[in-house]
Amino acid sequence: MIAKAAGIATLLVAVATSVAAQEQVLNLYSARHYSTDEALYNNFTKATGIRIQRVDADDAGILARLKAEGAASPADVILLVDAARLYKGDADGLFRPVKSKVLDDAIPAQYRAAPSADGTTWYGFSTRARIVVYDKARVKREDVDTYEELADAKNKGKVCLRSGSHPYNLSLFGAVTEHLGEQKAEAWLKGIVDNMARAPKGGDTDQIKAVGSGECQVAVTNSYYVARLLRSDKAEDKALMEKVAVVFPNQQTWGTHLNIAGGAVAKNSKNTANAVKFLEYLASAEAQNYFANGNNEWPTAKGVKVNNPALQAMSGGGDFKAETIPLAAVGANTVKVQQMLDRVGFK
Ligand code: FE
Repeated sequence: MIAKAAGIATLLVAVATSVAAQEQVLNLYSARHYSTDEALYNNFTKATGIRIQRVDADDAGILARLKAEGAASPADVILLVDAARLYKGDADGLFRPVKSKVLDDAIPAQYRAAPSADGTTWYGFSTRARIVVYDKARVKREDVDTYEELADAKNKGKVCLRSGSHPYNLSLFGAVTEHLGEQKAEAWLKGIVDNMARAPKGGDTDQIKAVGSGECQVAVTNSYYVARLLRSDKAEDKALMEKVAVVFPNQQTWGTHLNIAGGAVAKNSKNTANAVKFLEYLASAEAQNYFANGNNEWPTAKGVKVNNPALQAMSGGGDFKAETIPLAAVGANTVKVQQMLDRVGFK
């Protein structure tokens, strides 16, 4: 009788264990918040049986949370929306290097961390261009078709940007530093400050709107904000996009600056195999379509194309020259860039 009871107890433990094994969960900390990402996660769950439990916060919030949680962090996968932030998370030791032939084959080296002997810490899964918008009626295209001209005296009192310390700008300025060298890059930043129509404020969309209202004549924005406005049905957005034109800078020289949204496995993940599986899924053609196209971005995975009429229209058929320097090098410049910004008074 005692033996029988023990047998049943063992059986119950076995059943409980197998239920836990079936219910696989991946903890995702995400700075992305687009409706198409829901479909992406659901498809992953359908294909693998792994349920995704999500924590939403912005890039800075996620990095702070990971630091606070330390070794006890339940995070498995981290999704961030900027190369400078990915670089920072890596530098702060928050990511676990992974070795994945699938990822290394799919994602071009320029869009991932520099590999160490232990593997690679972060991979980019979509790209966005940092482009110039201008007032069609008051500005000539040839006066704003390079980043360098943002600092030219001919654009005095016309230029608007969001805060220089925002990661999107830190990454752009980090790229310019890579191209021009530190001295020229700092003089360039000083020139932009001298040309500002107003002190930096608001986000990228606010800069486009400020060109529409006439407060500014030239502004810098990520491409997906322009695409979003181009696809909008609202009369006010349509009117705004009638007034502004878009230019992909530096087509004759080093190409337009591209930034990424990307992912990494969390340092203290207890679920590394599934975390890698999820990143590999993000590199698949199906996921790339949701991840990139869903936010009007371009896929990074080799051979994957999306059909997005707004992106096609604004980039002249999608055939523009993009910068080719590794984003890991851009990230490495951002600390220096912040010091330059402080010196030239770029808020
Ligand atoms: Fe954004």
